[in-house]
Amino acid sequence: MKPVRTPSLVFGLAALCLLTVMFGHGLYQSHRQRMADSQELTDKLARALEEHTQHSFQAIDGTLRTTIAHLRSLRETGQDADALAHGILKANLATMTHARQLAILGPDGRVRHHAGRPDPAPVNLADRDFFKAQVEQDAGLFIGAPAISRNNSAWFIGASRRLTTVDGRFDGVLVAIVEPQRFRAFYKALHPGERGAVTLLRLDGALIVNEPFEEEMLSRSYADIPLFRKHLPEAPVGRFRQIASTDGVERTYSYRRVEGLPLVVVIGSAVQDTLGDWWIDARRQAVVWLLCVAGLGALAAVALRHGMERARALHALAESEERYRLIADNASDAIFRTRLDGTRLYVSPSVTAVLGYTPEELMRTPRIEFIHPDEREEVFHTLHSRLAVSGRVVLPFRAVRKDGRVIWTETAVSLIVDPPSGQKEWIAALRDVSERKGIETELLEAKRQAEQAARVKSDFLATMSHEIRTPMNGVVGFANLLLETPLSPEQERFATHVRDAGRSLMTVINDILDFSRLEAGRLELREAPFAPRPLVESCGAIVRLAAEEKGLALHLDVADDVPERLLGDPDRIRQILLNLLGNAVKFTEAGSVTVRVTRQAERGAEPRVVLSVTDTGPGIPEDKQPLLFQKFGQIDRSHGGTGLGLAISRQLAEIMGGGIGVTSRTGVGSTFWFTLPLREPPAGNEAAEAPRAASATGTGRILVVEDLAMNRELVTRLLTLAGHAVVCAEDGAQAVEAMRRERFDLVLMDVHMPVMDGLEATRAIRALPGPAARTPILALTASALPDEVAGYRAAGMEGSITKPVDKALLLDTVARYVRATAPTEDTAV
Ligand code: ADP
Repeated sequence: MKPVRTPSLVFGLAALCLLTVMFGHGLYQSHRQRMADSQELTDKLARALEEHTQHSFQAIDGTLRTTIAHLRSLRETGQDADALAHGILKANLATMTHARQLAILGPDGRVRHHAGRPDPAPVNLADRDFFKAQVEQDAGLFIGAPAISRNNSAWFIGASRRLTTVDGRFDGVLVAIVEPQRFRAFYKALHPGERGAVTLLRLDGALIVNEPFEEEMLSRSYADIPLFRKHLPEAPVGRFRQIASTDGVERTYSYRRVEGLPLVVVIGSAVQDTLGDWWIDARRQAVVWLLCVAGLGALAAVALRHGMERARALHALAESEERYRLIADNASDAIFRTRLDGTRLYVSPSVTAVLGYTPEELMRTPRIEFIHPDEREEVFHTLHSRLAVSGRVVLPFRAVRKDGRVIWTETAVSLIVDPPSGQKEWIAALRDVSERKGIETELLEAKRQAEQAARVKSDFLATMSHEIRTPMNGVVGFANLLLETPLSPEQERFATHVRDAGRSLMTVINDILDFSRLEAGRLELREAPFAPRPLVESCGAIVRLAAEEKGLALHLDVADDVPERLLGDPDRIRQILLNLLGNAVKFTEAGSVTVRVTRQAERGAEPRVVLSVTDTGPGIPEDKQPLLFQKFGQIDRSHGGTGLGLAISRQLAEIMGGGIGVTSRTGVGSTFWFTLPLREPPAGNEAAEAPRAASATGTGRILVVEDLAMNRELVTRLLTLAGHAVVCAEDGAQAVEAMRRERFDLVLMDVHMPVMDGLEATRAIRALPGPAARTPILALTASALPDEVAGYRAAGMEGSITKPVDKALLLDTVARYVRATAPTEDTAV
């Protein structure tokens, strides 16, 4: 981590230094001042001392001289000096302040006279220095070293002068016995401090007086001390500092040589005394300083900590910024940071790969706009409207690269708040999705082509099935007709085979057609009101014959609570029901087949109609049941079929909003059921289906319009056999002509015909004057898709009958229309 330098820390350290310097300087100054003061004082004291010593010894010397002069004048005048000596000594001693005795010693050293008693005791002082110094020569005033009196054991100093005879020979010594205490009293009064020292020394190193008094010091010689070796030779007056060898106390000394005397005065004051107060002061100040340091230290610590935390936070921020920048710099998406006013704050290097511009170009010129001009407005609109709501938007748009190439991009934009500045900004990550877009387009195209192919396939199948159905119509129809003519047993068997083979082929074709339509999603449902009961009955009628032929009982049971009319696609419902019924009859060998229609109303669920077909057939093993409704899910192949019927039924039931299922037990039978949402048509809405005749019997005049001779003959035959009168037309134009000429109860109109097709003919008939225009017209066609049927209705037809023609269905439908129109005919006739 980088060193932390914050202004507060620097300030703290500077303040600390300044404080330390101030304290240090203050202490140094006061120390110096004290030392200087003390030195000055000792200098002054030294001068006073010198003066005192000088005066004292001059006074002593003066008395000695006066006494000698007095004695000499006595001798010169011939008086008895010895007799008068005591008096003279006594008188002179009285003038002396420092001496306690004044004595005359003979040349042998014996005391001749002293001021004490006229007749002194015999004492010899020849060994004393003040005597010895004068024997050989005149030593002037000689100040002896301190010595102990043999008389009273007191310390004394002898100050002597030489006595001579008239002719100049040595005649003894006059000595003043000086009391050192007298000096010491004065020295004490000078008071150079508690541990101060005052000393009087002779220039040869002998100590004369010391205060404080140390007895053992007196016997030593101090000739070797720096005072004599160094300082005095340099200057007669001076100062020095040293630790005293005698008591180990450090002192500052001032010395002065006493003028006119072989003496030096030294006065020393102890450093400890001088600095006593200073030390207290210094300690006090040091405490203050320490407190300041501690305070500042605490402040500095807080500042340092704060600074470090801040530095750490900044460092962490910088690191994370670095990290994110690294990610942004190395991302393959182009990343932009933009202020809301459009100022770009960051553009990642990857922008060059995506858009061809360098980041600098985009930063420098914020007006470079790479959104495709056609999409710019919408992009900004979406951005502003959606970003405000969700805070994040993904925008797909086309961008124009620097080289002009248009690319597809996907841009995720987020609105964020930049933590340090608190400013809102956009972060956008722009990605080139051209490749993906290309694949998408290819996929869409492939899907479209696949759908197209499925459509083509289903169209092909529709056409093929139509083409197959038409001739099959003839095969099945004529086989039926053949069977109604007198035949030999063998011929009848062959004709039956032809009919059955034709029927099963028709089923196969129908199944394949439906299935391909379902697969292509092209099966459309029609929504129409219908009556469930007749629907079930008509289905029953279709299979009844086959059931009876096998000896099976057929029961139809529609519950009372099932509404009379429902809304749905009756053709598809019929298709499913017929499929289930057909299977039931096909697979059941004995017993019965029962159709039930019930209403199912479970709580909370939409009401439903349940249509079920129960048989007493072989049943279906449980493990096989799930296969049933899958394509080609045949279990028993012995009965032929495509295996598509139930798969188609399931899909039909499901697209109608219902479901399908089975419950079965092997050896007992099966119940196939399917459900439909129960929806009733609004009241008053008339059935779009063919009007229901009171009875399906009755005959009328019918115009059959059909271009194929075989079909014409088949339909004519079926209708005439049922008792109808039939007129044929070969195309639309002939039909319109016939309608103009004659009256018919019903027109059965083929759709695809030469000259004039069925739709055009229908429109022309509807445009005819008179009741002919109201004649019911039914399409007779192999193309019965819902949109086709809708087209027929739009042209003016009532409904349609699908080819290949099912005899029962044809006759039933025709009978209904003929009966319904009969009253009109009656009134018209
Ligand atoms: P297919 O055209 O073969 O009849 P479906 O899809 O209608 O096709 O039926 C599929 C298979 O389900 C049949 O082949 C048959 O094995 C079985 N199946 C259908 N209905 C019954 C039934 N009522 N009883 C027994 N098996 C049945």
